[in-house]
Amino acid sequence: MLFRSRDPLTGLYNRRFVQEYLDGELPRARRTQRAFTIAFLDLDHFKRFNDSFGHDAGDLVLQVFAKTLKDFFRQGDILCRFGGEEFALVLPDCPLAQAEIRLNVLRDEVRKIALTHRDIKMGNVTFSAGLASFPMHGSSAEELFHVADTCLYESKKHGRDRVTVPVEVTS
Ligand code: GH3
Ligand code: MG
Ligand code: MG
Repeated sequence: MLFRSRDPLTGLYNRRFVQEYLDGELPRARRTQRAFTIAFLDLDHFKRFNDSFGHDAGDLVLQVFAKTLKDFFRQGDILCRFGGEEFALVLPDCPLAQAEIRLNVLRDEVRKIALTHRDIKMGNVTFSAGLASFPMHGSSAEELFHVADTCLYESKKHGRDRVTVPVEVTS
């Protein structure tokens, strides 16, 4: 049966697609012993764009951010609008350290977005992120999402505009 796998506003995959993708990717990653990383991203103070410039301006920020993701990541990376101003990325064959570097370079790219609304500068777009890698931080989508979400929360708590990776547990 046909189902919609893309978010109409941004053209990114939707939440349902990424969940189904992981159902297929997890057994494959287990079999081939390949690491992959999940990133949760949330735009910082996004409500301000809506409140100051209107919903159309907010929608434009979401579209330009999505385009930045598409230009930045490689083919085969799964870019998803999870809902609202939240995004989930699955980066196959990308271990945690590499993903952390990529996300920090992305932060610099996103900071370059310069949007105006009726000749008024809309201000910088920034995001907070949390990461989790298979198999280090979980063996199921639920576990990985939970760890990435906890890291995202830490990024918000510590001032936003940052990428947080799970704390390494040493015995
Ligand atoms: P934080 O840094 O804590 O994430 O703050 P925030 O303002 O980004 O977060 P909050 O959850 O308070 O606000 C998110 C806003 O995103 C509220 C909602 O109206 C807006 N939003 C969600 N989906 C859309 C959309 O499709 N278009 C527009 N324009 N706004 C949206
Ligand atoms: Mg949010
Ligand atoms: Mg937000």
